[in-house]
This record gives sequence, structure tokens and C-alpha cells, in this order.
Amino acid sequence: MTLHDKRVRKTVALAEPKRCKRLSDRMAVGIMVITEMTQKECGAFLASASLGRLGCSFDNQSYVVPIYFVYEPNYIYVLSTFGQKTEWMRANPKVCLEVDEITNQSQWMSVIASGRYQELPEPQYTAEREHARSLLGKRYRWWQNALGERQLRLGDDLITPLFFRIHIDSMTGLRAIGESAECGKASLE
Ligand SMILES: Cc1cc2nc3c(=O)[nH]c(=O)nc-3n(C[C@H](O)[C@H](O)[C@H](O)COP(=O)(O)OP(=O)(O)OC[C@H]3O[C@@H](n4cnc5c(N)ncnc54)[C@H](O)[C@@H]3O)c2cc1C
Repeated sequence: MTLHDKRVRKTVALAEPKRCKRLSDRMAVGIMVITEMTQKECGAFLASASLGRLGCSFDNQSYVVPIYFVYEPNYIYVLSTFGQKTEWMRANPKVCLEVDEITNQSQWMSVIASGRYQELPEPQYTAEREHARSLLGKRYRWWQNALGERQLRLGDDLITPLFFRIHIDSMTGLRAIGESAECGKASLE
């Protein structure tokens, strides 16, 4: 049974114990409460984020690269250079994107969106491509990151970017919230 199947509402994990200053010297423990995020929360988190880790695989080998993206319901849009990741995603369109925000060890959010890769070439996808361009264009500097890295390695200034999107099939999200409690008072649900 997977974590997702179990529909765990609340998990409590004990962080490293630290000593209280008081004479009674009870052990204070940091409690980390991990909850599942709703679909709405996952979507809102992706909409507010911009950097994620794209996971793809081919021939029993996984490959993960950082990418910038724009989310809108059901889709993730990316401006991409052509290379290993696009070759692999063409061969195996089942991909995922992991996005997280880590405040500290016991306070973080992580969302995984799984879905299917779809390239947006001209002329079949002119409207979708323009839509992607307009969404991504609002965050102009992203272009520089994707293309700059490629130009640096290949020394080619004339690299044509491609647009792709991920049709999201499923999303899961976990959120950890750190709390503090004294030993004995902490109840593990
Ligand atoms: C903050 C950030 C944002 C980025 N945003 C984008 C984006 O929006 N779109 C985009 O296309 N690219 C983006 N990149 C670059 C991206 O992570 C890849 O490096 C790039 O897209 C090339 O991937 P590729 O599969 O085409 O590699 P190829 O050029 O085909 O090279 C393949 C080889 O290079 C290695 N390699 C490739 N990328 C990396 C990497 N990041 N780290 C270590 N080894 C690597 C692989 O292991 C493989 O051996 C971003 C990178 C960073 C750090």
C-alpha cells in the first residue's frame, strides 16, 4: 500500500530532541506534522512557484533536470532547449515535475505532478505555442537561463527553443509544519 493509497491525513514525526532550560529538565521535542495537500492547494502552490525538477526516464534510466515552468490548471508549460531530456520525453512521454519550498527541516511543501509530455511545434500547435509564449514571456529571464546554458556549452548563438507542456494526470502534495511540544504531551495519531 502506498502513502497515497493510505490517505494519511496526519503523520507525526519526532525531530531531534533538545533539552529544556527548566530544572524539571523534561525533554522538549520538535514535532513535525505532515499533512496531505488538497488538489486546490497543490494547484495554488504550483501557480506560485517557478522552478521545478523535471523527471523523465528512458531505457530503465531516470534523468532529472531543473527547469522553469508556468502552471495553469491541467498543464505545465516549459520553454526548452533540445537535448537529452526532449529526446527522452519524445521516446517516453510519461514525465513528472517535483516542486518544493523548504523553509527548514520541519517546515516545507512538496508537490509532484505526473503526466504526459506534449511538444508544441508550428504549425499544428500555433495557438497553444502562443499561449505558452505569452505565459512564459511574463517571466522574461527564464529564456536566458535555458538558452544561456546551452549556448555556453555548444558555443552556438542560434539555438531555436521549443515549447512543450505536460498534461497533468495526477498531483500529490505534502506539507510539513513544525511544532513544539513536551515529551509525554505529544500524541501520535
Ligand atoms: C535554475 C535553472 C533553471 C533552468 N531552466 C531551464 C528551462 O526553463 N528550460 C530548459 O530547457 N533548461 C533549463 N535549465 C537547464 C536544464 O537544467 C538543462 O541543463 C538543460 O535544459 C539541458 O538539458 P538536456 O537534457 O537538453 O541536456 P543536454 O544538453 O542534452 O546534455 C546532456 C548531458 O548533460 C548533462 N546535463 C544536462 N543538464 C544538466 C544539469 N542541469 N546539471 C547537470 N548535468 C546536466 C546530462 O547529465 C547529460 O549527460 C535550467 C537550469 C537551471 C540551473
